[in-house]
Amino acid sequence: MGKSGEILQMCRDKGIEMIDFKMTDLDGRWRHITIPAARFSEEIFTYGIGFDGSNYGYAPVEKSDMVFIPDPATAFIDPFVEIPTLSMTGDVCMIGEKENRPFDQYPRNVSLRAAEYMRQTGIADEMVIGPEFEFHILDEVRFQVEPKAGFYSVETRQAQWNSGRDDGYNTGYQIPSKGGYHIAAPGDIHYNLRSRMCMTLEEWGVKVKYHHHEVGGAGQMEIEVELGEMVDMADKTMITKYVVKNMAARAGKTATFMPKPVYKEAGNGMHVHMLLKKDGKPVFYDENGYSGLSRTALYFIGGLLKHAASLCAFTNPSTNSFKRLVPGFEAPVTIGYATSNRSAVIRIPAYAKAPEAKRFELRCPDATANPYYAYAAILMAGLDGIENDTDPQANGWGPYDFNLYDLPKEQRQQIRSLPKTLDEALDALEEDHEYLLKGQVFPERLIHIWISRKREEARRIAEIPHPAEFLQYYDL
Ligand code: GLU
Ligand code: MG
Ligand code: MG
Repeated sequence: MGKSGEILQMCRDKGIEMIDFKMTDLDGRWRHITIPAARFSEEIFTYGIGFDGSNYGYAPVEKSDMVFIPDPATAFIDPFVEIPTLSMTGDVCMIGEKENRPFDQYPRNVSLRAAEYMRQTGIADEMVIGPEFEFHILDEVRFQVEPKAGFYSVETRQAQWNSGRDDGYNTGYQIPSKGGYHIAAPGDIHYNLRSRMCMTLEEWGVKVKYHHHEVGGAGQMEIEVELGEMVDMADKTMITKYVVKNMAARAGKTATFMPKPVYKEAGNGMHVHMLLKKDGKPVFYDENGYSGLSRTALYFIGGLLKHAASLCAFTNPSTNSFKRLVPGFEAPVTIGYATSNRSAVIRIPAYAKAPEAKRFELRCPDATANPYYAYAAILMAGLDGIENDTDPQANGWGPYDFNLYDLPKEQRQQIRSLPKTLDEALDALEEDHEYLLKGQVFPERLIHIWISRKREEARRIAEIPHPAEFLQYYDL
C-alpha cells in the first residue's frame, strides 16, 4: 500500500480534509503548512514540500529553498483545529542536484547527530531524559509595546481562588506568594484544565508521571512526564507545549512557559533528568559511588559543570531566562553538584535509588530553549566530560550539600556562578564551543547565527526603557 496508502486510508476512515506539516523554527516554535487531503500522494515522501527556510531564522545557506519530508510514523489528528486535520512532523532537507541532503542546522537533525556521535564514541547507545514542565496559567496578560513612544508595560492578572464562582466573589484573595506547592482544591483552581491537558497528552503518546500546582501563587503549574529517549523527548517537548498552550487558549486563559513572568514569584524551569544506557543497561549506577553514581556519571557531571556557562546559551537562551536564575526561588545560581540541593545547578534526587533509575537533574534549563538544540548540547557537554575524565570534585565544583544561598560572601565567591545575563552566556559560548562541534553535531555556522541573533535580541530589549526605570529615575 506504501506510506501514502496508510495515510490516505486514515483520511478516508476519519473524514480528514486537510494534511498539515509541522516544522520547528530556529527559536523552537512549531510552524505549519497545509494541503488539502486530495492533493496528498506518495511523492510527498520523496520530494517533500518546499518552503523558504530564511523565514524560519536559519542561516542563509547557498539558497534558502528547503523541503520538508513528512514522517508518517508521527501522524496524529490535531485536536485543536475545527477542520479535521491530520498532522505530521518530519525532516528538513536541502534540495540537491541529484538528491536531497538533511539540512544540518535543522534542530531535529542536530539532536539526531548528537545521539549518533554518542554511539560512535562507544560510551553509550542511548540517552534517556525526563524534562519537567513548569508554566503559568494566567487569566489575562496585557502588554503594550510602543517602540516609538519608547514605552513598554506589562500587566498580568493571575487566576483567583473564587470557589468556582464567576460573579466576582472573593476575587481579592490569592494564594500567597510561595504558598502554592501541591495546594488542594479550591486553591488548585486549574485542576480540571490541567487534568484535561494531561489526558490529551496521554492520547498523544506522552506519558504523564504526575501533575500538580507549583509553588508560585495562583497559576503556576507543573507537568512531569516519564523519561524517554532524547530525540523522542524533544519531539514530546514540542507536543507538550502545544497541548498546554492550546488547551489554555480554549479555556479562555493563556499559558506561558516564560522563565520569569511574575516579579517576586517562583519562575518556570524545565529541569532535565538524565541517564545513559549501553546495551540496555544503565551506566550511571555504582552502589559505592557518591550518591550511588558511577565514575562515568560523575565525569558526565564534570562536563556539564565545565561547560555550564556556554551551555546556558542553548538551555537558557532568552533575556528573561536570567531573571529566573536568582537566589531565593529554588532556581539554581551556582555551578556545582549536590544531592537533594535545589540551589546547585545539578541535583541528584535522593529518591531515585534503583540502578536503572539512577540519574541526576540539570536545573538551569527553561522552556525558552529549542529542545532539540538544548538536549543535544547537554549530551555533548556530558560526553566531553567523560572523554576527558573531568572530575567535578577534583575541580572543586562540589559536592555542595548545604544551602548555597546562605553561604558567607567569601565562601560564595569561591564558587562559580551561572551567567547573570544572556550576553554573559553568549560570551561564554563564543569562547567555549569546541565540544559542540565534535562529530559535526553543531555546524559552526549555526553557532555563529545563534550568537548574532541572540545578541541582537538582547540589545533590542536592553534599549527599551523599562517601567521600573520610570519608578526609579523619573523624578530625579
Ligand atoms: N520553579 C523552580 C525553578 O525555577 C523549581 C522548583 C522545583 O524544584 O520544582 O527552577
Ligand atoms: Mg517543579
Ligand atoms: Mg526538578
